[in-house]
Amino acid sequence: MPAPLSPADVRFDWPGLRLPAFLIVDDPAPCLNLAHYEQYFEPHVRDVPNAFTAAWADLIAEFGVRGKFSVLPVPAGIGRIDRPLPGVPEPDRREFLRIVRERVSPQMDTCIEFLTHFLAWDIQQERPLDYTEKTMGPFTNRDHLTRYFAYGLHILHALGLNPTGATSPGYACMDIESDYQAAIREAVRAVTGNSIAWYFLHVDTRSPVVLPRIMSLDAERGEACVAMISAGSDPSWNTQFGQPSELNRLITADGQSGRLVTLFQNRSVISFHTHWQSLFSEGQWTGLQDLRILLKRIREHFGARILWMKCSELARYVVAQATTRVTITPKPASVEIMLHATVACPMFTVRVAIPQPVQQILVGGVPLRALPGTRTTMEAGSWQQENGEAVWCADLTPGATSVVLEWKS
Ligand SMILES: [Zn+2]
Repeated sequence: MPAPLSPADVRFDWPGLRLPAFLIVDDPAPCLNLAHYEQYFEPHVRDVPNAFTAAWADLIAEFGVRGKFSVLPVPAGIGRIDRPLPGVPEPDRREFLRIVRERVSPQMDTCIEFLTHFLAWDIQQERPLDYTEKTMGPFTNRDHLTRYFAYGLHILHALGLNPTGATSPGYACMDIESDYQAAIREAVRAVTGNSIAWYFLHVDTRSPVVLPRIMSLDAERGEACVAMISAGSDPSWNTQFGQPSELNRLITADGQSGRLVTLFQNRSVISFHTHWQSLFSEGQWTGLQDLRILLKRIREHFGARILWMKCSELARYVVAQATTRVTITPKPASVEIMLHATVACPMFTVRVAIPQPVQQILVGGVPLRALPGTRTTMEAGSWQQENGEAVWCADLTPGATSVVLEWKS
């Protein structure tokens, strides 16, 4: 008689046994190149045509890429993007926002990157201040930062861009990160009603495994803020200066080495970041063309063993992993595992150490589809058993869900 199951025999895996992957794109703004304003001491092309933005949308559609795409609410402090922008023809501003709303935001979270990415913004007077956002830590606090973020989120939300989090310009407000994470969590909830927020502030290009970090959590209410970490640095920054992208640093053509390969081999979440300027490459589009090569390598060598996710989807997943509780009731020739969840989570994937040959798994009374126990990836609504472990993948709903594993008595 095997020992009865305990909650310690239950483990939450990645969705469908696929490693989450996300791409971070910093610094986009309607039809203008941030570098022209922020790096004013160097020559930079000012205008980014919508043909470029449309080509970007084509690329992420072709490869099914997910992640996040910043939209600066007040780029370089020259004006709000929900009003006519100096130097940008009105039809162009509207077309940029249409492309992002209709073609980018279904695949990528849009987010604020503070407000201007340059001089801090006086949100009462609506004008630039005499210090930058990158150095604004000493000039702000949790309450002000909450209003600062809400100001930007309101602009994106009213434009139909569905913002879900924030990115820091450089390491802005790293010195007050506990206030920062609380501020973005409160601002996202106030503006959009979403109870899980995320932000991008940290880069870690050395650790073998880089995971999202839950920075605050109210498990009962399902409220949280999650830091999304980039594990791979921008391969194309120097295309602004006529130099080639460094794709091999992330993944070589043969798929045998590079930062992303190390992460993949260590079963880490896979992520890297780039910049709108790096993809635009001063009008040469070199970085965008190189990103296509990179995405081809990723598809060829990782295939379906990774799952592109939005930052908001991955944040939700790790919060579900952290907060879902398990209770177990042994029954004749079966065991009932109750999952007690406070957040919904698609493709929630659970492993159970169980010696009996399982015949069927029912979730909420509905049988899942049995897979041969050799699959390395799974879809929602399926299960398999191999090496004394049963694994199932099913959408998780808030409240208690009954999962029954049956075997022949
Ligand atoms: Zn940036």
